[in-house]
Amino acid sequence: MKFGTKAIHAGLEPDPTTGAIMTPIYQTSTYVQASPGDHKGYEYSRTQNPTRHALEKNFAALENAKHGLAFASGLAATDALMKTLKPGDEVISTNDLYGGTYRLFTKVFEGYGLKFHFVDMTDLSNVSSLINEKTKVVWAETPTNPMMSIIDIRGLADLLKGKDILLAVDNTFSSPYLQNPIDHGADVVMHSVTKYLAGHSDVVMGALMLNDDQLQERLAFLQNASGAVPGPQDSFLVLRGIKTLHLRMQRHSENGREVAQYLRGHEKVDKVYWPGFEDHPNFEIAKKQMRDFGGMISFTMKDDSVDYAVKILERFKLFSLAESLGGVESLSGHPASMTHASIPREERLKSGLKDSLIRLSVGVEDIEDLIADLKQAIG
Ligand SMILES: *Cc1c(COP(=O)(O)O)cnc(C)c1O
Repeated sequence: MKFGTKAIHAGLEPDPTTGAIMTPIYQTSTYVQASPGDHKGYEYSRTQNPTRHALEKNFAALENAKHGLAFASGLAATDALMKTLKPGDEVISTNDLYGGTYRLFTKVFEGYGLKFHFVDMTDLSNVSSLINEKTKVVWAETPTNPMMSIIDIRGLADLLKGKDILLAVDNTFSSPYLQNPIDHGADVVMHSVTKYLAGHSDVVMGALMLNDDQLQERLAFLQNASGAVPGPQDSFLVLRGIKTLHLRMQRHSENGREVAQYLRGHEKVDKVYWPGFEDHPNFEIAKKQMRDFGGMISFTMKDDSVDYAVKILERFKLFSLAESLGGVESLSGHPASMTHASIPREERLKSGLKDSLIRLSVGVEDIEDLIADLKQAIG
């Protein structure tokens, strides 16, 4: 089955009692048993829920994986994967990574004896030089946030071949439509479903997709034992959102291309970060592992002042200033004062994250209106 067909059909069966084409919202905490242990595979909704199960099958199909697991948030999914590790184990992670993941690693799991190394993974030798017998997970995010650097997933997988190390990829920025890390050798894919998968800025949810049966068993155990599961109503909303994932991603990518080119041609704009430019440092890798380049774009101004960036952000009428990304509506953000404020300024500047850097999540509105909004806001 091709992607769009999977998005609409995978995991879904007509409801056995009524034939309802859409999976019902099984809004129940428990299930009646005829006599102790005599049940239909459902005992308690933390452990099993039919709406969630349909969604988990759909998740697996979207990433060409055998198994899918749904969690209450993206961070809860990452949390579950980290809980498969033991004190003393080491993780090598990208340095340009989602702030909440950095906080979970350093402020929670370091306290339980895990060791994290944060490196620039656009240079794979930074990873190979850190690998030792304690390394258990390599954690990559590509494109990175907010600099849109591209990490070579196949290159990382080749590096880890034959070693007992999991390659986990946070695929949130790409969505499964643009990139399927398992096809390039990754072991585990993580999504903040909150973003492109749900797609309508109305749900917080996370997912893990993987092939390994033993790891699936351990993660399903943790999902139930720790209990960070999404409810049936949210599972339904995501099933519904995913039905248009391919259509939304096509429009996000089309609009993203137009916005990136418009910004690049603007006299007041300094740099535009978008992996679809042929002179992007890792364009060849992006082209190899991504189907298109999506709607996430960052740019800096020639007048590199916080004041100017703030003025632009305040003037936006369509690009609402808000955390998050991946919804149908366009959003803007200022990493230096919002998502990345906790990183010291010198560190930010080293990765090119200047004071005037604005991050856009280009939505699926009409492109003429988006360009007009950029024009009036930049001035
Ligand atoms: C939002 C986000 C997360 C965290 O997901 P939540 O659903 O907010 O818990 C992780 N990684 C990336 C890249 C994100 O954008």
